Amino acid sequence: MGLKADLYLDRADPLRYLSPLDCKQCGSSTCSQWLEKLKAGTARPQDCPSLGASRAHGLEVFLSIREVMPEVDVTQHPMAGQTGRLEINAPEPHSPVLVTGNALQTQEVVLAVLSTTSAPFHLLFVDTKGHTVDMAMIYNTFTAEAVWKAALDSGLESVLSHRQLIIPGLAASVKESLEKGGKWQVTVGPICAGELPLFFGDRWTRPSQKGSAGCGLGCEESDLTGSPPGKARQ
Ligand code: SF4
Repeated sequence: MGLKADLYLDRADPLRYLSPLDCKQCGSSTCSQWLEKLKAGTARPQDCPSLGASRAHGLEVFLSIREVMPEVDVTQHPMAGQTGRLEINAPEPHSPVLVTGNALQTQEVVLAVLSTTSAPFHLLFVDTKGHTVDMAMIYNTFTAEAVWKAALDSGLESVLSHRQLIIPGLAASVKESLEKGGKWQVTVGPICAGELPLFFGDRWTRPSQKGSAGCGLGCEESDLTGSPPGKARQ
């Protein structure tokens, strides 16, 4: 059995996404206590009134994230997937843009997480020479230039009504250079892709039973993306 890649689950903190008020309406003294009950299966996300339906779903997904995210092997050599733009759930011009690298492992993990929502996204795979984002930072393949090139070559700019990008938390150091020139505004997302359902909060809508995102949590299998992973726009 091969060595499994670090998916940085230990860097995700669900408590950050709960109200800091400890309002006790769930019957627990603190959010932290409630979270422990949730993990133990003795509480339900719906018990916290500060979470709407989508945030409760996001938390549910996060708590099951080990079932959602595939285990990926550490490989000796980088394995490059497609670069370019992929439409998730028929995005609109104002839909958010998630940026990541083009390692096959990264694509597999991010798409698995995105399969738990019907929310629309533009997904931009930057040519990191097949490096996962952590390795891309070491080998300097996740750069502002690489992101600009992917945005330009994929036609991303022409389909957007905004200029905002969300980059992986591990690539936070690229934010400043990426914003140089004033074209793009950059938000640093979570380090762990499994935290995306929490990060997007109310946006992380539950897939409907039919005709929306595919699913790792008991809904019907259906069309996950606007175009399959192998057909990202160049
Ligand atoms: S109801 Fe929600 S916000 Fe209030 S203490 Fe419980 S978990 Fe925290």
